[in-house]
Amino acid sequence: METASAERTPHLDVLIVGAGLSGIGAGHYLQTECPWAEYEIFEARDAIGGTWDLFRYPGIRSDSDMHTLGYSFRPWEGEKSIADGDSILQYIKDTARESGVDTHIRFNHRITAANWSTADSLWRITAERTDINESSEFTASFLFSCSGYYRYDHGYLPDFEGMADFAGTIVHPQAWPEGLDVCRKKVVVIGSGATAVTLVPALARAASHVTMLQRRCERSCRRSRRGPRRSGFTPSSPRPSTGSAGSIRSWSGGCWPKVWSDNFRPGTTSPPTSRRATTRGTSVSVPC
Ligand SMILES: Cc1cc2nc3c(=O)[nH]c(=O)nc-3n(C[C@H](O)[C@H](O)[C@H](O)COP(=O)(O)OP(=O)(O)OC[C@H]3O[C@@H](n4cnc5c(N)ncnc54)[C@H](O)[C@@H]3O)c2cc1C
Repeated sequence: METASAERTPHLDVLIVGAGLSGIGAGHYLQTECPWAEYEIFEARDAIGGTWDLFRYPGIRSDSDMHTLGYSFRPWEGEKSIADGDSILQYIKDTARESGVDTHIRFNHRITAANWSTADSLWRITAERTDINESSEFTASFLFSCSGYYRYDHGYLPDFEGMADFAGTIVHPQAWPEGLDVCRKKVVVIGSGATAVTLVPALARAASHVTMLQRRCERSCRRSRRGPRRSGFTPSSPRPSTGSAGSIRSWSGGCWPKVWSDNFRPGTTSPPTSRRATTRGTSVSVPC
């Protein structure tokens, strides 16, 4: 009985989950390395690009250079090697269109179950439509998970004490409200990882003051935003300050990072509670 019903279920050689950077790359390689394979990409959202379509906060860009993050089969030719989010999204869309991978995508299909059947040597997969109330079953010989590494429905938000009483606006970069106006507002950015390092200079252009709150010293390094020159990578040259103020504060108070930026150089002997930081370019923490 089970085999008979499996015969009626649509079968794919390869089912790819996710139409982000990885899923589009997987589609390309299936077409070039396994042209016999019938494959489809199941994407829960209604768009290509994954991360680069979802995240819309000001200043979003890559942390690593696009010559390594991009596809080796379609080398990055953009002027900036550390590229902005829109350019990366366009690059993924162009790659999908030029290779025809985009014609293999089923949008609004979220994979909710995948069970391996040893008896039939195939995956039994359930896909739920995210636009209508429907679900369907598929089988596949191979299952490629290109679904990313974080939850798409909401970003991680710790339960900060007193959050419910906070009268201001709380925003998570994963769900940045379109048109959010920070003009003349005082903003605190919690965290000091790649997202914060990107966000702070962009916010500082409009906000009256931006504070980066960091729990502990972390290391990140300044790098060129330009592509490689003939002699290799070259460091970016300092940029002028636009004059807005920002500050970086240690969360615990027990550890103060030295902060390098375009218009700030460490030099004071004892750490102040607040320091001016750059509004353009990238602020960089080095270990205490
Ligand atoms: C702001 C930011 C900057 C980053 N910068 C860099 C960088 O510079 N260098 C670097 O290496 N990495 C970076 N990353 C990590 C980044 O996520 C990866 O580089 C890359 O974009 C991941 O691509 P992916 O296709 O594997 O996953 P994603 O981009 O996360 O795409 C996964 C796709 O799978 C879909 N999906 C998920 N679950 C299901 C399901 N059950 N059913 C159907 N579809 C599903 C999602 O909707 C999504 O479209 C960054 C991440 C962020 C958030």
